[in-house]
Amino acid sequence: MPTETGPSRSIPASEDGGTRPAARALQQFVLKVHSRCDLACDHCYVYEHADHSWRGRPPVMPPEVISQSAARIAEHAASHGLDTMHVILHGGEPLLAGHARLRRMAEELHRALDGHCRLDLRIQTNAVRLDERFCQLFEEYDIKVGVSLDGDRSAHDRHRRFRDGRGSHEHVQRGIRLLRQPRYRHLFAGLLCTVDPENDPLRVYSALLELAPPRIDFLLPHATWDRPPARPGGADTPYADWLITIADEWFATGRPVPVRFFASILSLLAGGPSFVESMGTASVDHVVIETDGTIEQADSLKTAYDGAAATGMDVFSHSLDDVADHPGLRERRRGLADLCATCRSCPLVRVCGGGLYAHRFRSGNGFDNPSVHCPDLAKLIRHFRDRFPASAHGGQN
Ligand code: SF4
Ligand code: SF4
Repeated sequence: MPTETGPSRSIPASEDGGTRPAARALQQFVLKVHSRCDLACDHCYVYEHADHSWRGRPPVMPPEVISQSAARIAEHAASHGLDTMHVILHGGEPLLAGHARLRRMAEELHRALDGHCRLDLRIQTNAVRLDERFCQLFEEYDIKVGVSLDGDRSAHDRHRRFRDGRGSHEHVQRGIRLLRQPRYRHLFAGLLCTVDPENDPLRVYSALLELAPPRIDFLLPHATWDRPPARPGGADTPYADWLITIADEWFATGRPVPVRFFASILSLLAGGPSFVESMGTASVDHVVIETDGTIEQADSLKTAYDGAAATGMDVFSHSLDDVADHPGLRERRRGLADLCATCRSCPLVRVCGGGLYAHRFRSGNGFDNPSVHCPDLAKLIRHFRDRFPASAHGGQN
């Protein structure tokens, strides 16, 4: 269920030098419980962008992959003495796996990690199939639920449609209503909204706020230099302008809800950590386990080229230490040294970090470029730096 990326960073760390940083522990795992989806969003990077690896994978994660994934995560926690492991049940659409398969997944993970470390278990869903039984299951296993919602009906249904063209807004609203019942409210983790400058920013923000989410995440659409983001009307920085409109309102009204993207900019401006993968120079500490047990790098890489996220490893033949030592993950642990010359000399680099790794891709020179969202990121960061008082910098997640 993405354009929703992997998890946020829980262990910010910047390693600015060196050419071969040591392998380190992984603490966040995206488990692709189901590789298909009941929606056909036209901005989905899983099905609509460069990578097509989902076609060759089993639709649902089989029991042996579930057991082996849980065992690998437990083994990794034990060998590194980690106190918490963060696991996100993801897809495609994870609810398509059904109640029984998700129960088994939660049971296996809890059983495997019990006695080793705490399990922070989450699910990222389009909420179309969210029902009372799922909510009860999530309550039983303390599974926190993030929902993808792009705003009001017209904004959401612009992209998030069923295969026959029907919008999904009404279905998602029904799912969120269930989650907001007092009994389940504590499971509601927040809303994830993909930015589209064609939508009215304040209407989108207001529609999200109305649902009283504990947190809002805004996501820039996945794009590369080969496949740049839409810039309606030829505007130079439509994404920054859109987000600035919301940020100004958010700030003027006393920051009524945590917005991780904004909080990350404020925190980074104050020299603190980022709470999102797309900002700052911290290293990546998460991997994806696909339905067939293969292990991949960050899901967003699927937007770059077919096979970009592959490691050639799987849960049956490789430990998570093997994966942490993969050249692709090592490369992305080099902090500033990982960035192109333009970014390294950019005055905003400590905050921006060159944007999301996948967004730097261009055929010919790979990831050795600034983000394709560079003008928007620069404008947004400067706005936060110049318009919001320094005392506000250091925002909380
Ligand atoms: S809900 Fe939309 S964005 Fe998410 S996996 Fe399904 S098609 Fe892709
Ligand atoms: S992407 Fe642009 S704003 Fe960000 S660090 Fe690179 S040059 Fe600076």
